[in-house]
Amino acid sequence: MGFDELREFMVNTQLIPRGIRDERVLKAMRKVPRHLFVDESMQYKAYDDMALPICGGQTISQPYMVAIMTELLELKGDEKVLEVGTGSGYQAVILAELSREVYTIERIPPLVEKAEGRFRILGYKNIHTRIGDGTLGWTEKAPFDRIIITAATPEIPVPLLEQLSEGGIIVAPVGERLSQQLLKIRKTKGKVLKERHTPCVFVPLIGKYGWSEETDSS
Ligand code: SAH
Repeated sequence: MGFDELREFMVNTQLIPRGIRDERVLKAMRKVPRHLFVDESMQYKAYDDMALPICGGQTISQPYMVAIMTELLELKGDEKVLEVGTGSGYQAVILAELSREVYTIERIPPLVEKAEGRFRILGYKNIHTRIGDGTLGWTEKAPFDRIIITAATPEIPVPLLEQLSEGGIIVAPVGERLSQQLLKIRKTKGKVLKERHTPCVFVPLIGKYGWSEETDSS
């Protein structure tokens, strides 16, 4: 099978049967060439049902995890989105397909450089990158309609809650260092509504409002 067929197969066997229904999400997952977000030696595995290593001990999330987190964000097309944990840039591109502007922060500079190259080659002009501690958010560009944290966090960093618009949604893997659950938070009328979703395992969020680097076992 070629990459296009593998991508279609991924959507039909990993996403639809597990309940991903948002047609816009499925369309983006059918379109974005995931194999270009991993090293060449790993491309044959790009559409498998798993996370894959990228550099610096980090990972590109499993396709299903990208799809469900994106679906939970309820993107309609006009949102300003913040992503914490650019990694390979794959999730950022999926978000860029489905929203107006994407701001993405990554703490490991070589990952940002690689991701930026991919955004350029694929022609995405609505993705803005920044190197730094994403637990602090991106004050100059706040507020955000949607925030996605793609690394495991003990709790939602306070600055991110503050930088979320009224009516906004945050999706993040929250829990222990080695196992978490997807949490969806909606800010309405100053209140925060929480919904728990699927269990998951992400690499740790390292920063002021995440975990400290010293205990990083990844
Ligand atoms: N969304 C990525 C997967 C991210 S893996 C993709 O689609 O490929 C999690 C990423 O979060 C790693 O690259 C890690 O370096 C980054 N990260 C961890 N703590 C961070 C922080 N405080 N700020 C920004 N990025 C962070």
